Amino acid sequence: MTANAHPAPAPADPTLSDGQVQPGWLRRDRCPVCDAPASGASPAMRSDPPAETLPAEAHGRFLSGYGSGRVFFTYHRCGGCGALFCPTYYTPEQLDRLYGRQQENMADVPLPARTATQRHYAELLAGTTEVAGDYLELGADIGLFAEACAARMALGRMYLVEPNLEVHDELRRRLAGRDLVLGTGSAAEMGIPPGSLGLAVMIHVADHLLDPALLLAELRRMLRPGGVLFLVVHNVDSALARLLGKRFPPFTLQHPQLYGPRTIGTLLRRCGFEVLRTARTKNHFPVMHLARAGFQVAGLGAIAPGFDLPWTPGLRLGNIAVIARKPLSDAG
Ligand SMILES: [Zn+2]
Repeated sequence: MTANAHPAPAPADPTLSDGQVQPGWLRRDRCPVCDAPASGASPAMRSDPPAETLPAEAHGRFLSGYGSGRVFFTYHRCGGCGALFCPTYYTPEQLDRLYGRQQENMADVPLPARTATQRHYAELLAGTTEVAGDYLELGADIGLFAEACAARMALGRMYLVEPNLEVHDELRRRLAGRDLVLGTGSAAEMGIPPGSLGLAVMIHVADHLLDPALLLAELRRMLRPGGVLFLVVHNVDSALARLLGKRFPPFTLQHPQLYGPRTIGTLLRRCGFEVLRTARTKNHFPVMHLARAGFQVAGLGAIAPGFDLPWTPGLRLGNIAVIARKPLSDAG
């Protein structure tokens, strides 16, 4: 037997995990919900391979929503509050590159279904507490929730932050006649006087924030006493999440933490808010969209497009809406 009897080993695939955590990630040393040390958190949910063992350049091919080949950073459960968060995560610069590559994820859901979902949110809010005054929405998208609120509440100036410039014309059209201020950056860049807002809105934003407490504190300062905060987040403690385990779609590269009804309350109270209501929400999706997503979540492959069935009357898909307010006694 000669030294050449065995084939040379194949060159290493740089996108395959060798089990080592790659250098260059952000280390988060506190729980983003309760501020307990991350050293007291334990691994609770990991993909195979975990995202932190791959180079960042290899993550692009794992970004597509529901596919079974997804990777994410390992979620740890906080020893203090029970929240799930990623102690190892992207730096802000790496996140910018990630979002630069990402396509709008709701664009393939037909408008009537999206409108129905946002109206449901607005009715939930209007049915819980009186809302009036200036309005701020972060991640306003095409303005469906803002429009639904404007139809139901006495709103003043409307500040809408939406990084995607391509939808700004649609925002202006949808909210024509309103006192509108559009922005693409941070809430702080909107020139909002402290203590002036009647309503601040973040729909599917808080799951994405590296430091949610920092932004919530900022929003509390912008709200007037009694001003309302409306959030929608994924519910990692939902029956759907328990059923799907690591296939629950919100376990993804874009979410440095995930909340449940209890932990979102913990975060809000820590940031000086009173929680008025936490509700499981209904989401309207076309039947075929759901079927496709369901097949992909189950690892059964994609369903060919080309069917057009009616959208559903509303399904609970593991989301929660939270209505909170700045205490009336809080002048800060
Ligand atoms: Zn915690």
